[in-house]
Amino acid sequence: MENISFWEKKWFTNYDYVVIGAGIVGCFAALKIANEKKNAKVALIERGILPLGASTKNAGFACFGSITEIEKNRKEMSDDDLLSLLELRIKGLEKLRNNLGDKNISYSNCNGYELFFGIDALDRRIHKINELLNPLIDKKVFSLRNKYIKRFGFAKEIVVGLTENKFEGSIDPGKMIFSLKKKLGSLSVDCYFSTEVESFEETSKKIYLKLNSSNQSIDMKTNKLVICTNAFAKKWFDMEDISPGRGFILLTNNIPDLKINGCFHYNGGYYYFRNIGNRLLLGGGREIDIKNETTYSFGINNRIRQKLIEDLKRFIVPNKDFHIKSEWSGIMGFGQNKLPLIKKFSENISLGVRLGGMGISIGSIVGEKTAELVLDK
Ligand SMILES: Cc1cc2nc3c(=O)[nH]c(=O)nc-3n(C[C@H](O)[C@H](O)[C@H](O)COP(=O)(O)OP(=O)(O)OC[C@H]3O[C@@H](n4cnc5c(N)ncnc54)[C@H](O)[C@@H]3O)c2cc1C
Repeated sequence: MENISFWEKKWFTNYDYVVIGAGIVGCFAALKIANEKKNAKVALIERGILPLGASTKNAGFACFGSITEIEKNRKEMSDDDLLSLLELRIKGLEKLRNNLGDKNISYSNCNGYELFFGIDALDRRIHKINELLNPLIDKKVFSLRNKYIKRFGFAKEIVVGLTENKFEGSIDPGKMIFSLKKKLGSLSVDCYFSTEVESFEETSKKIYLKLNSSNQSIDMKTNKLVICTNAFAKKWFDMEDISPGRGFILLTNNIPDLKINGCFHYNGGYYYFRNIGNRLLLGGGREIDIKNETTYSFGINNRIRQKLIEDLKRFIVPNKDFHIKSEWSGIMGFGQNKLPLIKKFSENISLGVRLGGMGISIGSIVGEKTAELVLDK
């Protein structure tokens, strides 16, 4: 039986709006509601002490796609759909920066780069992607920068091509969520961390939630519910095209005289690295063991770890001593459809999930759109 006082029940269990999930999407959804409905009671509920998905576990690339990734996407979807996705990423990044301010997310305009291991027709490929992007950015987005291969210290017998994208940068995702939380607090949104929503039930009048925190069960009710639990939404929406994907990251010690500066990708966006001061953050590699990485469990896949360390030694920081200082994983949400799933589940319940591998760029817009679905006009 729930052990809850009259006062607690009166003040903490009855809301106008509840948002589930304090990743980037849930935070932006709650922000939108609090800004639009000044007198509404709004709660944000998160199962982890810190968000336990992807938003504070990622690499902090403020990016919208590398050449090989866009080429891969072009084979999987129509140019129109691809342009919609790219536009969402570009506009989403703008919204994130405008809303929180560059200082509050540590935005750095450090440029994006891609490594190539063969340069067959690279000039022509760059031109084709620039042409595709022209309706969105009427400047040359990608340029060949082979002269930087030596400057960044890559093994030049392996890395034979390098492209640059001046429209990409990096952020500190921890600072981003920290700043979002601060904003939510200033707008009187009640944030419940370490609180899992076990289930919800909709009746004609209200939506009833069962919460669990430290083995304490609490019932809550709300008029509107916004679900922003990314991959974990599968638990309640089994029919939807959502599946989990684990991502892995490792971070080195300070490497003296590190020459790398910026956000880098290779192999279709499956691998990425950046510097954090003189440290190197490297992640990705899911593609070598997709079966085991299609999981809701955090953890480290040794095959992938080995491959990443090998790449560091072979061509990223050859001839440099380094060791791994920390490593972690996060869980993303994917689908056959590369666009996010933003949907009205019922009159009073909406869903904004399936952010894919570039959710930092689209999270602000997905959050706002998901909130709009249940906001009374
Ligand atoms: C290793 C890695 C690297 C990445 N790198 C980048 C990058 O550089 N750039 C980029 O743009 N994107 C990157 N991404 C992707 C990006 O981080 C995600 O797409 C984005 O954070 C998803 O945001 P979200 O709010 O939808 O989901 P999440 O951040 O996963 O938030 C969902 C939240 O819901 C909570 N939750 C789930 N179920 C419940 C429940 N029942 N009750 C209460 N709470 C619940 C979870 O604990 C979680 O905190 C990366 C992802 C990973 C894993």
